[in-house]
Amino acid sequence: MYDRLTTQYTFACPGQGDTRIALSSFRRLERLPGAAHPAVFRVRFECGCGQEHPGLVTHAELDWAPLGLGGDVSFLNLMTARREPLEEELAGVAATRIGAGEWPWSFFCYPENQRRPVFPSSFFLLAPSGPPGIVGVAVRCPVCDSTSINLVSEQHVDLPFHNDAEIGVVEHVFDADVARAAEEFAAELDSAQFDARRLAL
Ligand SMILES: [Zn+2]
Ligand SMILES: [Zn+2]
Repeated sequence: MYDRLTTQYTFACPGQGDTRIALSSFRRLERLPGAAHPAVFRVRFECGCGQEHPGLVTHAELDWAPLGLGGDVSFLNLMTARREPLEEELAGVAATRIGAGEWPWSFFCYPENQRRPVFPSSFFLLAPSGPPGIVGVAVRCPVCDSTSINLVSEQHVDLPFHNDAEIGVVEHVFDADVARAAEEFAAELDSAQFDARRLAL
């Protein structure tokens, strides 16, 4: 249900049938308790029809599928004129870039005051904010477990290895409680006291 060529997820819309949306149109991600193998996330996403709908996505589809891992899509190799597995090609590219020190996704951890690598499964709230194409993202830091809010481009979220050179950071340490953090997230995005941090690349 993740399409690596368009970098979009397919979900069901009650009105339109299937709908395809990018990760930046997710609004809330919550790991379901119990389902550890594989981990499953309950998400809410903003649909093209203008409403929010629920959906389910696996951990692999969130974190690995955008890197080309775990799928059976093939592509036409123009050098050999044969169809070959896309997974091998994309995974090879991803491995090379990660090996060279590039991060597929990153965010700025406010309490630690530094940039950290991250995977989409650590994003838990997203909302459009400010100018078109900009999203606010609440991220749970995989290192210190605190929550930070970043203001980034949609591409920063949707495209692996696209890291914004500058990221907006909310100067606020969030409540560990998820429900309270969601309220604070909405309030902070409305008041928009962002501090631009340049992330060293
Ligand atoms: Zn819809
Ligand atoms: Zn941290």
